[in-house]
Amino acid sequence: MSKPLGGRTITARLKSGENLTEIIKHYENYNAKQRTHNHEDLWFHQRLTRGNAVHNLKKSGSTQGLFLVRESVNIKGSFVLSLIHKGDTQHFQITTSPHSGCFSIDNGPPFVGLDQLVHFYRTGCNGLPTALIHACKGHTVPAFLQQYGENTIIHQAVDEGIDTAVFNQILNHSNCPHLNTRNNSGRTALHEAAARGLNDLVLELYKRGADVKTRDAEGNSPLHLACRGDHAETCKILVKHCFSKPQDRCCGTGWVPLHDAAYYGHHQCIDMLLRHGAACYPRSVNGETPLDLADKRHQTNSLLILQRYQPPKPHYSSSHWLHNAVDRHKAVELLEHAGLRNGCFLVRMSKRHPGQYVLTMSFDKTVFNYEIKNKNNWFYIDDGPLFSSLEYLIDYYCRCSDGLPAELTSPVTPFARNDLPPVPGPSRPKMNERPPAPVPSNNKPSKNHGVIQQSYIPGLLPNPSDTLEDIEPSSIVLGRELGQGEFGSVLMGVWTNPLGKKVPVALKTLHGEHINTGEAEFEREAGVMMGLNHLCIVKLYGICRGETMMMVQELVAMGSALDYILDYPSAVGQADFKLWGAQIASGMNYLESKGFVHRDLALRNILLASKALVKISDFGLSRAVGAGSNYYKASAGGRWPVKWYAPESINYGTFSSSSDVWSYGITLWEIFSKGEQPYGTMTGAQVIQYIEDDKRRLIRPEGCPEKVYSIMLQCWAYNPKERPTFLRLHHKFRSDPDYFNMEVPGHRDNLDS
Ligand code: AMP
Repeated sequence: MSKPLGGRTITARLKSGENLTEIIKHYENYNAKQRTHNHEDLWFHQRLTRGNAVHNLKKSGSTQGLFLVRESVNIKGSFVLSLIHKGDTQHFQITTSPHSGCFSIDNGPPFVGLDQLVHFYRTGCNGLPTALIHACKGHTVPAFLQQYGENTIIHQAVDEGIDTAVFNQILNHSNCPHLNTRNNSGRTALHEAAARGLNDLVLELYKRGADVKTRDAEGNSPLHLACRGDHAETCKILVKHCFSKPQDRCCGTGWVPLHDAAYYGHHQCIDMLLRHGAACYPRSVNGETPLDLADKRHQTNSLLILQRYQPPKPHYSSSHWLHNAVDRHKAVELLEHAGLRNGCFLVRMSKRHPGQYVLTMSFDKTVFNYEIKNKNNWFYIDDGPLFSSLEYLIDYYCRCSDGLPAELTSPVTPFARNDLPPVPGPSRPKMNERPPAPVPSNNKPSKNHGVIQQSYIPGLLPNPSDTLEDIEPSSIVLGRELGQGEFGSVLMGVWTNPLGKKVPVALKTLHGEHINTGEAEFEREAGVMMGLNHLCIVKLYGICRGETMMMVQELVAMGSALDYILDYPSAVGQADFKLWGAQIASGMNYLESKGFVHRDLALRNILLASKALVKISDFGLSRAVGAGSNYYKASAGGRWPVKWYAPESINYGTFSSSSDVWSYGITLWEIFSKGEQPYGTMTGAQVIQYIEDDKRRLIRPEGCPEKVYSIMLQCWAYNPKERPTFLRLHHKFRSDPDYFNMEVPGHRDNLDS
């Protein structure tokens, strides 16, 4: 037990007649005295608007590297770093991981405390435009947001193993400190209670909202500590009643609680975790399994349990989900046929890697593919646990998502079950024939001791290469240049498809000088487009990997709509513009329903098949929106077409279908103003000021109907939630008599593709 404040325990104080309010005050005063008053530590600003942050930084001199961290006014518990670089204020959203509660900026490393994050970015730029140099004076960061906080009365109560009734009185008290505050050792009260096996206190803390995911200063969850302390019953309570996840990893080592239990030889905890669904062979960052640790440390009992463990009989057999002759396209079709329900899945053979399998699943109306690796009789996905058979692997992911967008729920069953290849059954793989250790994610290396490196990828990575169609170079004849793209020229061509049909195509090339920098982006763009099939979206036929890498796309005969409108302004009029607006909304509605965010919707990226049919193109910036979030966050430094961006994209780098709706409004404006440049010669900074500070919007283009302008204004609602969805826009056009006879997919059923 650590020394209580003033040398007297809470129990002793209560006995001597002090009341709880006095004791809490006593702790508060003590902690307040300990707080730093060093100017450089006072960078936290509670509830500060973006405008006031800019104002405060300006008032403090706008010197290079001046910074503050502020809590969002609208979203409690959401933080933003504002800093000065080259005289300008820039803002970076600090993301809180839903898996661990850790803080990070873009793809940077995660930190358990905001103080730790600030410290890291003070040591160097580490991906920001500047290192943080001087604090813009605010307050000390609250203790519950620090890596090493302060010893609260709750910690002391746990330390004393206080009576549950008194504990409840403390937790119910109106001045009770924040439950997730870490103490001087970097642990929350829940960590301490779990480490000591105080089951009642664990439950009380959980009931009142203590976070079971929160990590201690070393990156461990309370469940890790319960295993370390050999408290099997506490483990059970945490898993069964508090919904702790046995697959949650320590941010530093990649250990799951089973690793801790095996390392210390706590076989009752091992038994409990395995009975509650833990995988037996998870891997640490070094590729070590709990069995390796038990073996290394001569934990004989634990070793025996792990060696003898038999996973539960899989709920489904391979005949329920294994498809023999199904390729990627067919798999998508089968899942679409099943309604693209969340967690619907099948397993198929990989065409690209014979002998390997691919798990194809749907989530949020999007299809994801995961390569199932098979080495030395072990099956695994990405850096996930090892399984001795494909059936065990699938059964595990039916019970927990562990990195997939969702748990697998219902299999798509093949029609002819006797047409199946033999599935490798459970065999005992040799532990000394190990598959490679999982590859750590690509975080920038840390020069800072004590920084918790992200050592796992929270979402397993879908396998893009498996989703691309290869087109033989010999089946393509090259023609004239159509235009210049980001990575090389776009050529016209003819493709003789596998049925012998000659198809006019556009070939987007990846030129030599871009091969190193652009290949991944290029493949990703192709990966996004490959899954899309809509009349108003440019179709991708495949990728041709000849001397130059090329994306083979449907040829959209009249090229860029922006060029056309500028070259032939009198050839197009209001009726064409309305039609284009409706068609773009239809294509974007399709994209939205698939969970894709375009991020670069602008007239320059709209192509004309004819005056009566437009197609959305250029998916170079688009992303599938990941599980559990409906927006995509950009990493710093990309190609940002600011004038088309919604305020939240400019300020925080967040993109969503709602920010696409903003860009749609700008695109409509471009159309109706016949290709004018939005905001004329204004700079990006002036545009932001115009939108945010002056609360102004682009003015109605000459001749643009009021009805259309009012749609634009709705698209430019500052709050993304107040903008219409593409579904609503699509229906708006659909139900408007002005658009009744137009060739818009979805308006007349036979035009839907
Ligand atoms: P992008 O790289 O998509 O910006 O393309 C550059 C230019 O190539 C466009 O502005 C068009 O003029 C032309 N282009 C791109 N894709 C196609 C296509 N599928 N059909 C016809 N022209 C295209």
